[in-house]
Amino acid sequence: MVKVKYKNPIWERRDRYGFPISQYQYYTGSIVSETPGEMYLKSDKFLHCLAKASIIEIDDSPVSFDIGEDKRITVDGSKGNKYLVERVMGIDSCSCPAFKFRKRCKHLLHLDAA
Ligand SMILES: [Zn+2]
Repeated sequence: MVKVKYKNPIWERRDRYGFPISQYQYYTGSIVSETPGEMYLKSDKFLHCLAKASIIEIDDSPVSFDIGEDKRITVDGSKGNKYLVERVMGIDSCSCPAFKFRKRCKHLLHLDAA
């Protein structure tokens, strides 16, 4: 089990809310899987997907992940379409239908070469 201190993603926009927003959130659980930009933490009832860029401490020790630079490229699809392929804060995404459906696709491979 690990304890994760996490930057509350809505803290930056806290003025827009009519109730108090805490700057940090705390999660306790076990790390079940990782991607370059994300960490999946399983607690009693939930599976939390945490962006590594927002993780500040694990078990009270400061951490910083090497999540690399943001990248944005356009990739030609097989049917002449163009897709926007991005890596933002270590998290990959693509505008193609396969990615929307399965959360991965062949176009993401182009990011490593870019
Ligand atoms: Zn794609």
